[in-house]
Amino acid sequence: MKITSADYLTSSTTLEGCPEPDLPEFALIGRSNVGKSSLLNALTQRTGLAHVSNKPGRTRLINFFAINETWCLVDLPGYGYAKMAKSRRHEFTDMVSTYLAQRDNLLCTFVLIDSNLPPQQIDLDFTQWLMGEGVPFVLVFTKIDKISAARVQEHIDQFTTRMGEFSDNLPMIFTSSAKTKAGMNELHGLVRKVLASQA
Ligand code: GDP
Repeated sequence: MKITSADYLTSSTTLEGCPEPDLPEFALIGRSNVGKSSLLNALTQRTGLAHVSNKPGRTRLINFFAINETWCLVDLPGYGYAKMAKSRRHEFTDMVSTYLAQRDNLLCTFVLIDSNLPPQQIDLDFTQWLMGEGVPFVLVFTKIDKISAARVQEHIDQFTTRMGEFSDNLPMIFTSSAKTKAGMNELHGLVRKVLASQA
């Protein structure tokens, strides 16, 4: 997919503050440090977009980017901040869960998982919650350049085995590297296919 434009639209803390649901949306979410900012830049072929999301005050917001003026990439706050106060954590969860469960024009959520790690409970809990809510999502195993393909596959297998404990329907699985750009064509292909299915 040729990215002809990638424009920061707005940031919001609430569903009401989101832009009009005119464009189909694809969201990115994952634990902090999973490589979300790097993937945002790689997917949009821009070096500065994540910088916009990471400006002070914006890391805990929902950030919207219009891509090719036809769809939106939505950067959701990372989950699993150990340092966040319990009260704030609740607020944060409410905001993200409301967006995910209620945003009608959200077509697909990319749930980022660090391919270098064995299954993390917080990621499993999150995917279980998404399934319960019927939120459409795919898994994207990030940073695959850092370990061998066999180790990546081992972690994917372990993760899907654990998911099998609570669901018969496994999501589609992608792998990515923001460093080598592996997986970008596949993710763009997914966006194209999902957009075409809506047309
Ligand atoms: P975020 O906190 O989820 O936004 O994660 P970042 O995109 O800031 O990445 C966290 C760290 O992982 C940074 O040091 C990145 O350079 C590194 N990183 C992110 N993606 C990749 C990748 O695909 N390959 C490698 N080798 N490092 C990555």
